[in-house]
Amino acid sequence: MHEVPRLIDIPQKINASGSLGVVEASTLTGFDARRLYYLYDIEGNATRGAHAHKALRQFMICLNGSVTVHLRGADGSFTFDLTDRTKGILIPPGYWRDLNDFAPGTVVAVLASEEYDEGDYIRDPAAFDAWLEERERVGGVPYIAMARCHDEMGFDITRTVAQVVRDGSLIGGPHVTNFEKEFAAYCDAVHCVGCGNGLDALVLIMKALEIGAGDEVIVPANSFIASALAVEAVGATSVFVDCVAATGSLDIAQLEAVITPRTKAVMPVHLYGIPVDMVTLNALAQRHNLYVIEDAAQAHGARVGNQRIGGLSTASGFSFYPTKNLGALGDGGAVVTNDPALAEKIRLLGNYGAKVKYHHDIKGTNTRLDPVQAAVLSLKLKKLDAWNERRRALADIYFQGLNHVAGIALPQMPQGMEAVWHVFPVLVANGKRDDLQEFLKSKHIGTNIHYPIPIHKQKAYATGGSFPEAERVSAETLSLPLDPYHTENEIRFVCAAIREWAGS
Ligand SMILES: *Cc1c(COP(=O)(O)O)cnc(C)c1O
Repeated sequence: MHEVPRLIDIPQKINASGSLGVVEASTLTGFDARRLYYLYDIEGNATRGAHAHKALRQFMICLNGSVTVHLRGADGSFTFDLTDRTKGILIPPGYWRDLNDFAPGTVVAVLASEEYDEGDYIRDPAAFDAWLEERERVGGVPYIAMARCHDEMGFDITRTVAQVVRDGSLIGGPHVTNFEKEFAAYCDAVHCVGCGNGLDALVLIMKALEIGAGDEVIVPANSFIASALAVEAVGATSVFVDCVAATGSLDIAQLEAVITPRTKAVMPVHLYGIPVDMVTLNALAQRHNLYVIEDAAQAHGARVGNQRIGGLSTASGFSFYPTKNLGALGDGGAVVTNDPALAEKIRLLGNYGAKVKYHHDIKGTNTRLDPVQAAVLSLKLKKLDAWNERRRALADIYFQGLNHVAGIALPQMPQGMEAVWHVFPVLVANGKRDDLQEFLKSKHIGTNIHYPIPIHKQKAYATGGSFPEAERVSAETLSLPLDPYHTENEIRFVCAAIREWAGS
């Protein structure tokens, strides 16, 4: 479904001495107007238009007289009678337009998003039909479709960034405070403290809990290396635990076997956006008097029962790396917790240990969420639920399309959880993962591997130990394209390619 043409009311300022119609490009049309043109002195029986644009957006107003506007595109045909200068038509790209039935003296004005570019025109109806068909044809699928998101949101993002620059507070300030409030509420939690990135969020939690030399933290072997690096960053030791292949997350049943008197915390990672069973994990941690520190970098919005990830443990660390479910325009991170004292300490630690400038209560560091990122995150947060819903709908296409394909195991959703599918991983049996990845590449389908080497086998760690499921997952896992901006047809195209590869 593409954007469709629509009629928009133009605010009028009516005054005894005359009236004023005002089109604020930013709020009314959603695009920056770069060009104005107008039609006048038109013959009553003339047809004007008779072309389409590939990328140009337009806003059409009839300033005098009347005109009938016919629009035809991928989502159908639309007819508007413009008889009233208090309304305008927003015409998205990809619509053939014919204008006719001009009343005598008609004047039609058009705001356009770009200056003249002949390459953007399609002037032949048959060529337009061919262009529409080509646009819908799936010839490949990128692993992620972030460019499409930024195409759609580009104008709002530019406006938001410009607003922060105009406001002028470039460290801290209202944009950061607002986002922290919004994100805490979104996570069904009380406090959120922004920081520089997801790794720093985890490090700040460890520091605030005074985990350090001689302490152990239990970390899943199957995760991104940041989960473990946060532990070593404060001088403590990562103790690895194996995973359950069906979800990729830590195997809670194996936790008790690795708890020692030195164990201070356990770090569940909601890998791929599938929530870990926090009820069971918290009960176990409580029995052993352990902190629970969630690595929630892949799970913005995921739910355990009715509650979102974020406030379900001692504290959780989020990343706003651009490709995460909620991503900034660069690095960003946050700690979410219900503990006010912990939140306060983390805020101090990340800001040179100072609450009041130049008054340093503790030895802190510098890791802050900057206001440009915070403002963009507030903008994107409004869309996060819809994006996650879309991810689930596309995941369902995989669940249906890849059910019972020989040699392909799908992830299994635990009961009572709501995943947000940061990644959609499948396990490819019999040593054929790389073969499938190559086959999909030949069809221009992008894939990824999360992760090719478990942490305990990384050169940086190489701690030894045997975690057979984590090792198997790293050898078999393949992440398929899944992004809110993929189309259903693209996901079906991936399913068909995998079925073709499997011969089923
Ligand atoms: C992305 C990620 C991180 C680290 O986030 P950064 O913002 O890149 O520091 C940590 N853990 C997991 C599981 C991640 O996916």
